[in-house]
Amino acid sequence: MGKDECIFCKIINKQIPSDIVYEDDKVIGFKDISPEAPVHIVIIPKQHISDLNCLREDESEIIGHIFIVAKKITRSLGIAENGYRIVNNCGEQGGQTVDHLHFHLLGGRMLKWPPG
Ligand code: 5GP
Ligand code: ZN
Repeated sequence: MGKDECIFCKIINKQIPSDIVYEDDKVIGFKDISPEAPVHIVIIPKQHISDLNCLREDESEIIGHIFIVAKKITRSLGIAENGYRIVNNCGEQGGQTVDHLHFHLLGGRMLKWPPG
């Protein structure tokens, strides 16, 4: 799938609506449409990168930024103290369904480990 048909690029471009909790010039964080926890935010780079396998070394800075943004979101949504989980699904066996690099931020309940 090219980036023109990418659903997350459409969310970035506001071509489809989403509940945005954080946005800056590099990343956006929005509520997952099918939440797996009381807090379930998807954080993505605005640049279309298909998955972690496609991330180049010269693009690695965005990952640190995403984690700093995730930390800010946990504070703004009140889950920083109780704890949370950040997940990247990569490829078919990793459970990736949208081919635009993204990190799930999950919290607001006791999370099980290991995941299924
Ligand atoms: P993946 O399974 O690729 O790791 O995660 C993709 C996530 O994106 C899923 O949790 C799914 O619920 C969410 N998602 C898919 N389409 C949309 C959408 O149109 N809007 C929002 N807010 N979330 C979406
Ligand atoms: Zn995209």
